[in-house]
Parts: sequence; structure tokens; C-alpha cells
Amino acid sequence: MGGLDGRVAIVTGSSRGIGRAIAIELARIGCSVVCNYLNRENEAKKTLEVIESLGGKAIAVRADVSVREEAERLVGETIAAFGRLDVLVNNAGIFLRGGVMDDISILDRLYSVNVKGVVNCTAAAVPYMRVNRWGRIVNVSSIAGFGTSARNTTFYAMSKAAIVVLTKRLAMELGEYGITVNAVAPGLILTDLVFGSPKEEAEELIRWTSERTSLKRVGRSEEVAQLVAFLVSEGASFITGQVITIDGGRLDFLSHSG
Ligand code: NAD
Repeated sequence: MGGLDGRVAIVTGSSRGIGRAIAIELARIGCSVVCNYLNRENEAKKTLEVIESLGGKAIAVRADVSVREEAERLVGETIAAFGRLDVLVNNAGIFLRGGVMDDISILDRLYSVNVKGVVNCTAAAVPYMRVNRWGRIVNVSSIAGFGTSARNTTFYAMSKAAIVVLTKRLAMELGEYGITVNAVAPGLILTDLVFGSPKEEAEELIRWTSERTSLKRVGRSEEVAQLVAFLVSEGASFITGQVITIDGGRLDFLSHSG
């Protein structure tokens, strides 16, 4: 199908949203794909149906990435089904509003999925990439991690900032095994994560964000998927430790605008 024929990829949280688009795009370029989901089995099946309609191979595996044993089982089931693992896209994530004056349990919940989930899946996957001396890890951070000015998102921003440094540290540690580690940092992308908010709130968020974006619009999941597909391709073989922003040119970073 594409440049990654024979490669096997896990995409966490790919029953919907950005993860689904990534899973479909990786299948389109030739990967066999493991679609991880938390509890939307029917949605995960829809991702599989699309991949199969493209002539690709995919399985769905339920696992909570915030639990180390479940991340290990996810990787174990991948090896059982396909015999190898080449690509890991750490996409699963949650968004919760909150900042330092709010309940600290919000920070714990964000960290357990957005940070520990990435650590758990990476730790489980790396041994299988190391033996082949080839691997691609792509983490999904957010421009929130660099300091956008959206209010009441401090805890979420902290969790996504952690992914920036984790990406650079992992790139340093895994480079000698032929494993690249990069991150993408999307701006606002229209997914259920956005539509999960009340309608008026979602519309206001889209308007507020579009005004602060050079391209005057928000993004689509497929646009993020194209970037991830490039980062896992042979064409990106000398790129590692990078965090690539995909946000239509956001103008409202705390460091240089009001
Ligand atoms: P989404 O809510 O549509 O999808 C997130 C997926 O992660 C869901 O399928 C969910 O079930 C899964 N998930 C959550 N917790 C999990 C767990 N413990 N174990 C396994 N799976 C779990 O959201 P999305 O907008 O598609 O977001 C995908 C990623 O992109 C997230 O990491 C998010 O933080 C990031 N992101 C999104 C935007 C945006 O504007 N939508 C912007 C920047 C970054």
C-alpha cells in the first residue's frame, strides 16, 4: 500500500478523534495497525472497518494505558497478532479544566493518562523496537504545553508540557537503537473532545481560537494524521527529539501576546 509495508503500529486511543485519523492514515501507508481503545468498542470497530475497506490489516485491543499491566498486555497482544512492533503513537489523552486553585485530583487524573500513559506504553514497546534496531515513537502533546493563553487549562497544559521534555529525553536515550522519538503539538482540532463541551461553549471556543490563528480556522484530525504519517516514514529518518507544532499559526502565546 505505502512506504511502511510490513511495519506494525499501535495507536493509543484510536476509537475516535485524532487517534482514529492516525490509525487510518498509518494503515493507508502500509502499517498493520493495533487500535487501542478504552471503552468504546463499537467506535473502535468502526475504525477497523475503515481500515479493512482500504485493504489494510487491523485489530482492536481494549486497554487502559494509565495502568502499566494493561499497557504491557496491549503490547503483548500486538506481538501475538503480528509478531513485531515498529511504531507507537501515544495519542490517548484526556482534557479536564483546572488550575492551581482547583481540586488537586484533577491534576492526578490528567497526569495518569496524559503522562503516565505515555511512559507505560513506551516502556512496554521499546524492547521490541530495540531488537530490530528500528522504531518510531510519536507522542501527542499540545500547544497548551508551550503556554497558550486559554484560561483555566493550567493542569492540562502542565501534562502536555511534560510530554515535550519526555520526547527529548527519550530521543536521547533511544537514538543508538535506531529509534526516533518525536512529538506533535496540535492547536485546536475539531474532535469529540471539543464537541464534548456544551454546544455554545464549543462554538465560542472555535470562534475565540479562529480569531487568534493566522489561518483563521481550527484544524482537522486528518491534518494531524498526515504529520504523524510523515514522522513515522523513512523520509523522517534523521528527525528525532523534535516537537512539531500544527496549529494554523496561533498568535496567543503567553510569552508574546495579550
Ligand atoms: P478524543 O477524546 O476524541 O480522543 C481521545 C482518545 O483517548 C479517546 O478515544 C479515549 O477513549 C482515549 N483514552 C482516554 N483515556 C484513555 C486511557 N486511559 N487508555 C486508553 N485510551 C484512552 O480526543 P482527541 O481530540 O482526538 O485527542 C487526542 C489527543 O490529542 C489527546 O492526547 C489530546 O490531548 C490531544 N490534543 C487534542 C487537541 C484537540 O484540539 N482536539 C489539541 C491538542 C492536543
